[in-house]
This record gives sequence, structure tokens and C-alpha cells, in this order.
Amino acid sequence: MKKIAVECKNIGLSYDGGKTEVLKDINLRIEPGEFFALLGPSGSGKSTLLRLIAGFNQHQRGELLVDGRDITGVPPHARNIGMVFQSYALWPHMTIWDNVAFGLVERRVDKATIRQKVGAALELVSLSQYANRRPNQLSGGQQQRVALARTIVIEPQVLLLDEPLSNLDKKLRVQMRQELLSLQRKLGITTVFVTHDQEEAMTTADRMAVMDKGIVQQLGTPAALFDYPANPFVANFVGTANLLTGEIRQVGGDMLRFKAPGIGEISLPNHPDARSGPIALSFRPHTIRMTVGDAILDGAYIWLNGLIEHIEFLGEFTRYRVRVGNIAITADQAHYCGMAPFARATSVRIGIDTSQIRYLPL
Ligand code: ADP
Repeated sequence: MKKIAVECKNIGLSYDGGKTEVLKDINLRIEPGEFFALLGPSGSGKSTLLRLIAGFNQHQRGELLVDGRDITGVPPHARNIGMVFQSYALWPHMTIWDNVAFGLVERRVDKATIRQKVGAALELVSLSQYANRRPNQLSGGQQQRVALARTIVIEPQVLLLDEPLSNLDKKLRVQMRQELLSLQRKLGITTVFVTHDQEEAMTTADRMAVMDKGIVQQLGTPAALFDYPANPFVANFVGTANLLTGEIRQVGGDMLRFKAPGIGEISLPNHPDARSGPIALSFRPHTIRMTVGDAILDGAYIWLNGLIEHIEFLGEFTRYRVRVGNIAITADQAHYCGMAPFARATSVRIGIDTSQIRYLPL
């Protein structure tokens, strides 16, 4: 099967005759065969963008290219794009076999071909033995696989998944996301999937677009977005981040002076991204060191005095909320058997690894 690219160029979409702008100047290219996630909070425009690719929504500005061809205005049924809905939308009165065969029957495919294709699709999702059951006789995970089989049986060029795992419980979600990915790899089909769950996007996607307020905030691999977020929104949406907002006062030579309200002035190593003016320092909770004694002499860290305000024991690590001046910093400390966590109201020093600080524009 030929692998297809999907490209959005300067796409803008408004509802209410232009009053509510839901997608603003979307530019992204999904590579052939890629597993691509649209990640963002509720209302950020993910589903609108997915439905636009399927042809259920029409954009007013820009181009939508599939395999290099602008398909703006082409109706959904003529697009050769398969979509799996959040609700699965299976026919309750039909058997699993008939549900999967539906799209082929509609396309007037001959009986022998239908038999062969439905059989293969059910085998692919390991549901051959359930062909004669009805949807309500299957578990949520199995219904999800029927929805997938029903979509891939028509051999679409692009597969769209709208929150495909949100109806499943946590354990099944983890299992299904692995199944989904291995199925996608087997088929090599360009896949776009919408989720508000950053773990889901990070564990499966080749690349992802983080959306907020109808704008693609950043595009890249999960690791690139986690390590090099472009702005405070991405830093906090992809993983957890401490954001220290303040102002860079003076940049010169090897060092810079950063002033944060309520904390005071800190000297930090200079950085190519550091500019004079308002900025947020972003650093991850797990990169922080914590000690009750003196600051550890290690040039890679800057040390701040704080007070433990809140403790959450999470098994693998303990998450502390530490009050430093008038801000709260989240610090995760790895936990090992026999280790006693620090107590609430303990005065601590927290060490911020300066190599892990990102300088984000405000
Ligand atoms: P997400 O999938 O990220 O949760 P949506 O794409 O569903 O977000 O919605 C984006 C925004 O568009 C929301 O503010 C929503 O209220 C609005 N919206 C969605 N559909 C319509 C519609 N048919 N008419 C007007 N506004 C809509």
C-alpha cells in the first residue's frame, strides 16, 4: 500500500459566520506512515481539525493536502479516509461480521471479496471467533477493535482516531494503545489520533502537535517536546514543569542575573536562549535534588532554601511541594524500599540542575 502524507497549510476555521475562530493558521505536515497525535486540553480544536481532515468540517482558509492533492471541498465519502469515533458507532442490531462488512456492502463489493476481506480484518484484530456475536456481547476493548476492523477493511489511505481509548479503563487503555500501535505499524497506514492524555500521546506517537486555543503550540517528537518545550503551556502540558517567572536583568560573559518576585536575584550560567526581560525558567520535578543539610558542592546546581508544604507518596517516587519565597516548587525524589520520606514542615535545600533549566519566552 502506498503511504500518504497529510498536510495542513494556513488552515483557519470559524463557526458562527466568522465570530468564533476555532482553528487559527494551522500548519503541519504528517509524514507518510506516521503515527501522529493531536494533543491538547478540551476545547483546543483537536476534534475540529480531525473532522476537517475527514471532511465533516469545512475550513474557510488554507489548504488541506492529502498525497499532495488539495481535497478541500471533497465530500467525506470520496476522500478514502477512515475514521474511528470515540463512541465506536457500531450497529447494535448487527453481528460483528456484518458491522465489519458494512462499508464493503455499501460500496457494492462482490461477495467473495467481502468474505475474504472481512475474514482478514477480523483476524488482524484477533476477533475471528466473535464474528457471530453482537456488539453488546463484547467487552469495551473488543468493541474498540471491531470499530478498527470496520474502518481498516475499506483500506483507507489515512486512518483518523478520535480519542480511541477514552472509553476504556486504565489497564485496558495501556494494553490497547500498544495493540493499536502494532496494528498501525503492520498496516503502515498514516494515522492521526486525537487525545487529551499526554501519556497516551507520548507513549505511542512518532510525532505530535500540542494544541491550545486553536493554535499549534509546538510540533515534534515526544522527547523533543518534553526536553525542549517552546513555551510555558507546552512545558506544563507535556509532563510536569516548574515555572519560575521573572526577569533577566543582566546578561554578560558566562553568567546572567535572574530576578523572580518573592525569591530575589539568582546567578545562573549564561544560555543562548536567555534574553533580557520577562522570562519563565522551566525545570522538571525529577531533576531537582533535595537535602536537609548544607548545599552539596556541585557547580552544576543552584541551591534555594525552602519548606516542605505537602507530600505525596507515589511508590516509585515521592512528590514534594516546597515553598520557596512566595512560590511553590514541585520536587520528585526517587523512592527505594526502607527510605523514609522527608516530613512536612522540614526546612530543606533544593538544588536545581542548571543544565536542565529551559528559558521560555513570556
Ligand atoms: P477539542 O477536540 O480539543 O476538545 P473541539 O475541536 O471539539 O475541541 O472544539 C473546539 C472549540 O470549538 C470549542 O470551543 C467548541 O466549543 C467549539 N465548537 C466545536 N463545534 C462547534 C460548533 N458546531 N459550533 C460552534 N462552536 C463549536
